[in-house]
Amino acid sequence: MGISRILIANRGEIALRIHRAAHEMGIETVAVHSTADADAMHVRLADHAVCIGPPPASESYLNMAAIISAAEISHADAIHPGYGFMSENAKFAEIVEAHDIKWIGPKPEHIRTMGDKVEAKRTAGALGIPLVPGSDGAIEDVAEAAKIAEEIGYPVIIKAASGGGGRGMKVCTGPHELETLMKQAGSEAKAAFGDATVYLEKYLGNPRHIEFQVFGDGGGNAIHLGERDCSLQRRHQKVLEEAPSPVISKEDRNRMGETCSKAMAGMGYRGAGTIEFLWENGEFYFIEMNTRLQVEHPVTEMITGVDLVREQIRIADGKPLSIRQEDIEFKGHAIECRINAEDPFTFAPSPGLVTAYHAAGGMHVRVDSGLYAGYKIPPYYDSMIAKLIVYGRNREGCIMRLRRALEEMVVDGVKTSIPLHQELLRQDDVLNGDYSIKWLEEWLETREG
Ligand code: ADP
Repeated sequence: MGISRILIANRGEIALRIHRAAHEMGIETVAVHSTADADAMHVRLADHAVCIGPPPASESYLNMAAIISAAEISHADAIHPGYGFMSENAKFAEIVEAHDIKWIGPKPEHIRTMGDKVEAKRTAGALGIPLVPGSDGAIEDVAEAAKIAEEIGYPVIIKAASGGGGRGMKVCTGPHELETLMKQAGSEAKAAFGDATVYLEKYLGNPRHIEFQVFGDGGGNAIHLGERDCSLQRRHQKVLEEAPSPVISKEDRNRMGETCSKAMAGMGYRGAGTIEFLWENGEFYFIEMNTRLQVEHPVTEMITGVDLVREQIRIADGKPLSIRQEDIEFKGHAIECRINAEDPFTFAPSPGLVTAYHAAGGMHVRVDSGLYAGYKIPPYYDSMIAKLIVYGRNREGCIMRLRRALEEMVVDGVKTSIPLHQELLRQDDVLNGDYSIKWLEEWLETREG
């Protein structure tokens, strides 16, 4: 029997996103929520709702026992984790499956492999994905590190094997600081992740962040849905994403996309995944794989017409992929602006009461958000409150429409990043697609100074 009721183990816009895909497939939804989210839109729209704990995520959205109990009492036959929270927790995925509930996500062993950066790099390399030159796995010995650094050339970056969110990384410019930085990286990694394991990589000076969307059926078939360019970042947080990348040729897209889908087929990958690369001087360098749906997945949906969440649900239900590689056509251009409740230029959080709300509309404009007038944005969670995604026949048309849509958006009562996006879309480098992962922070500094 197929999936008939999905518990959505998440909140905010992504919970709505999953609810919408489920209802379009005739599947019921169960929302779970903390006491802080009792009035949230994801709770209002779902067919059933279960309160799973107090505001702190550690006691609610990260509370495995509470989520599993909620699934049992609501007779959910599947769980979709969204992104963040439980989405890349292999142990949780195993527990879900052990309860005979379908896990709408990759196989637990693949989540585990890709969650360990050293293991992920080894696996990716073995599957033919190009890597950043560096140590072959974990490195303990300073002399060995010095030898590798000499071979690949300084600067090098020391990274924590269990790192995440851009933490636990040290850039080392020469042999004189190698020993100190390795020690520092190791102890910081131990403190933050409980694991002191570090490895070494060549440090790329001015790369772009390019990621490929992949999809596997778990039985050896896999496809790719092209790339997204997420180079506009602040503190490793993506701010604006686009598809296709302004710098990737059709040949490179097809070649690298095929490398990725072959790798996924080779490992029997199941569900949605994203293979992240740094890209510099025409070369791709694997940095990590995310074994979940990404925040920025809608730009891919806009240019391919494929509903990625629907596909995730089908795969979890044991159905085949509904599309073949040769059916996927990349058409036009899409850009997503992440709208956060924060000061647009100091980035100080700005939770609180939304006094007025109007979403942009019109042709090729999509707003994924749980906002409504009278909603109180709680201070406990991520500051992202909406995603504005716009499609155009080409990049120029997409940017014109995006500016128009940003003018229409009204979120009163709190500060938002809308003014940041408006200013970004007036910068020549952004208009020309000429930016690396360093661009936004450098621009913010000159802007402030
Ligand atoms: P995390 O899981 O902590 O996000 P990643 O490996 O994805 O770690 O790296 C996060 C960011 O750090 C990248 O997007 C990039 O900005 C920077 N970075 C990582 N590796 C390198 C490298 N070898 N050279 C230059 N920058 C890097």
